[in-house]
Amino acid sequence: MYNLKINYGPEIDRKLCNKCGNCYQYCPQDVFGWDKDKNEPTVDYAGECDMCCFCEILCPQVAIDVKIPLHNLLDFGIAPVNYKKISDTFEE
Ligand code: SF4
Ligand code: SF4
Repeated sequence: MYNLKINYGPEIDRKLCNKCGNCYQYCPQDVFGWDKDKNEPTVDYAGECDMCCFCEILCPQVAIDVKIPLHNLLDFGIAPVNYKKISDTFEE
């Protein structure tokens, strides 16, 4: 049995979040849930995130950071500096 860890998608800084609900309400992929006891958003389906960054834009507290996988960064042409040399080695 595989234990698959999703290490991309939105991360919420709980110290900044004011619990406005924008992320929960407007994410087009329904990635967020809502903890009724704590009255705050939860990240329930990170694997469904398509990295549109809409939640980041709508968050009034700048409390959300959407983690983007390396292969997507490379596809977008915005790989981190440290990976530039690695990608250069594959150019013909
Ligand atoms: S990046 Fe887009 S799909 Fe992913 S959690 Fe934010 S709003 Fe939803
Ligand atoms: S949009 Fe930002 S401030 Fe509002 S509930 Fe989501 S994380 Fe919290």
